[in-house]
Amino acid sequence: MYLGSLVEYGKKEDIFDNPLHPYTKALFSAIPVPDPTVKMNRIVLEGSIPSPANPPSGCKFHTRCKNCMGICKEEVPVQKEIEPGHFVVCHLYDDVKDVSEKPAAEAPAAEAPAAE
Ligand code: SF4
Repeated sequence: MYLGSLVEYGKKEDIFDNPLHPYTKALFSAIPVPDPTVKMNRIVLEGSIPSPANPPSGCKFHTRCKNCMGICKEEVPVQKEIEPGHFVVCHLYDDVKDVSEKPAAEAPAAEAPAAE
């Protein structure tokens, strides 16, 4: 969650194996590894946390996201199911097929021309 909004959810294994949202990735990068030989690739978020009483327009995370695009400042991203049971709310996945989408209903068959 970020500023009171879900940004990603699913099974624990799916999220740890394949974090999708930039905020999730930043949180996971901060988990300490108890091995001094491991090089940490910490993602440090810039800026401060906006007020939940006056959240940013569009994606609430856009003021701190290094992947921010123009659309992020204007449109609230919608939830997409990227793999069964693994959901993300981020414009980075706008072009990815939502696996929860049902196939479009078949168009009604064209009417046969009237006999003369
Ligand atoms: S919608 Fe845009 S600003 Fe928000 S997390 Fe995704 S890329 Fe970043």
